[in-house]
Amino acid sequence: MAGTLYLVPTPIGNLGDLSQRVMDTLAEVDFIAAEDTRISVKILNHLGIKKPMVSYYRHNAENSGATILGRLMAGESCALVTDAGTPAISDPGELLVQSCAQADIPVVAIPGPCALVTALAVSGLPTGRFTFEGFLSVTKKQRMEHLHSLQTERRTMIFYEAPHKLLRTLTDLVACFGGERPVSICRELTKLHEEVWKTTLAEALHRYEQQPPKGEFVLIVAGMPESTDETTRSMEDALQQVQERVAQGERLTDACKAVAAETGYRKQDLYQQAIQERESE
Ligand code: SAM
Repeated sequence: MAGTLYLVPTPIGNLGDLSQRVMDTLAEVDFIAAEDTRISVKILNHLGIKKPMVSYYRHNAENSGATILGRLMAGESCALVTDAGTPAISDPGELLVQSCAQADIPVVAIPGPCALVTALAVSGLPTGRFTFEGFLSVTKKQRMEHLHSLQTERRTMIFYEAPHKLLRTLTDLVACFGGERPVSICRELTKLHEEVWKTTLAEALHRYEQQPPKGEFVLIVAGMPESTDETTRSMEDALQQVQERVAQGERLTDACKAVAAETGYRKQDLYQQAIQERESE
């Protein structure tokens, strides 16, 4: 009979978030698959647990995944731990769980720390309906396509982001949703310098233009409001206004400046988008 793969959540900052069930599972399994064995061994040392470990990360997922699968099929049990939080959420654990599903290997998920749920719960934004968007692509075109697909999204949107990419992401979010859109910037959750800043996209961009972002971030962005007025107009409407002004003889830079003042979008973002549209025509 096949063994079980246990998805074992680890703290996203605070070691006090290790649950009894997590400790029992780590102590009982035959082996542990860890995204980074150096990080996971610290948790095991903290708990006084010694256990054989294999590494399982994005770049060895295929080979290591096959080995883990083979051991599970031979009847061993395995705990999958990633660097922080719940395995299989925006990390390679997703692939292993898919392989187990295909091979009919039982998977048990232990509930625990997860950055997106923690951030959403504390955000002060509607939690009844939400959509998790993970990390945006590093490729500008794919990033903008992704955001474009969310332009009329009414549900609360959740994004993960690394500090060195935050400014770029905030710039694109402003371009897509407008500067007035509410956002909760959730930083260093459960850690000493935890911060939940309820603000607007434009304010957040302004702050991080002045001061380099530090730490880990989850962005909770409000969905499009039911009633769209001047300030919540979509990027598409704003670009339409730019085109109308240009058609009436205004220079593109002047048109972008005027529409930026009316809608809250940044002049340079309108300009960039208008140029991109021209080039793709
Ligand atoms: N599996 C993890 C989970 O359950 O949330 C997420 C893994 S993903 C590779 C890492 C991202 O999660 C970070 O870039 C950041 O966006 C978010 N994150 C993780 N820990 C965080 C924390 N303490 N505060 C804010 N965001 C965090």
